[in-house]
Amino acid sequence: MDPTLKLTKELISRQSITPSDEGCQELIANRLEAINFKIEHMPFGDVKNLWASYGESGPLFVFLGHTDVVPAGPIEEWSNDPFSPSEKEGFLYGRGAADMKGSVAAFVTSIEDFISENGPKIKGRIGVLLTSDEEGPAVNGVVRVVEELNQRKEKINWCLVGEPTANKEIGDIIKIGRRGSIGCKIKILGVQGHIAYPHKAKNPIHLAAEAINDISNLSWKDKTGKFQDSVLQISNLNSGTGASNVIPGNLILDINVRYSPSTTTEEIRNSVENILDKHDLSYEIKWDQGGSPFLNTKTVLLDSVRTSIKSVTGISPEQTTDGGTSDGRFIAPTGAEVVELGPVNESIHKIDERIKAEDLSLLSKIYKAILKRLLT
Ligand SMILES: [Zn+2]
Repeated sequence: MDPTLKLTKELISRQSITPSDEGCQELIANRLEAINFKIEHMPFGDVKNLWASYGESGPLFVFLGHTDVVPAGPIEEWSNDPFSPSEKEGFLYGRGAADMKGSVAAFVTSIEDFISENGPKIKGRIGVLLTSDEEGPAVNGVVRVVEELNQRKEKINWCLVGEPTANKEIGDIIKIGRRGSIGCKIKILGVQGHIAYPHKAKNPIHLAAEAINDISNLSWKDKTGKFQDSVLQISNLNSGTGASNVIPGNLILDINVRYSPSTTTEEIRNSVENILDKHDLSYEIKWDQGGSPFLNTKTVLLDSVRTSIKSVTGISPEQTTDGGTSDGRFIAPTGAEVVELGPVNESIHKIDERIKAEDLSLLSKIYKAILKRLLT
């Protein structure tokens, strides 16, 4: 059996729903230790993190990934048990097959091949950073390991994130940046009362109507040419007691903006709060800063990723910045060059998550070609 397929299966059969790891990192650590990686487990709270490194000097290349998976959802809707890997018509099924136990397995097999062919004479160092909290709050995961590495003055030069970036086939899309995310909860304050005595109450729905309309029209132009414009979205809007004869006391509004590096969180906060103030509303607001945006403007890793994809698959990848946030956001601020390349993302987080079995060895080959270009 193909070694990447075999290892992916072993990982899928461990039921590592965030923040649980279920021995996935131990398995990877054992494989890497056998080829002389230095292994460091860095647990924080209930989150497991693994930092494994090889080599003494020179530029540091890091594979970044996660061993946790999202819950399976209704198990009865799966064709097979999501945590018993199964193969059908050339596909491997199981939770995490594409996001992202397949890439984690390909990290390991590409490194094993690369080291056995090039041995200790490689020009640089290799690191593997894994967390069991990418799909969750991401508070005790990669961000904490990066803090620790920064304290040691450990500098990452190149970081390859194995998140599922491909659209139809491996290598057709890579990501060179990600948007940031910021949201808030707004509570518009009114005064509750009887619907028949509106002059004795203050209806927050009526008071907020125009402001909500103005807020829903907010957007900010991208000036990098690499991102979509930043558009505000309202995700929740709640008011009312359920009774038809009561004017509610308040209205609650949740908003989120996925923003490009052209926009600052300060601009976003000011725009929203200015609208609330302009409409003379009394309100409480609580902002929640998610990931910061990043954009790779360097070319060493990028060029080696592009030529490696081309040499293995014949494809010239499209470079995008869309989709959700990724843990790359914690590495980019250190000055490292960050590029994301992984499996086809069509089935991720869905029922019957799957990956084409042959894509696993393809991914391992591309990763190995990247290592070779950068480190020999
Ligand atoms: Zn993922």
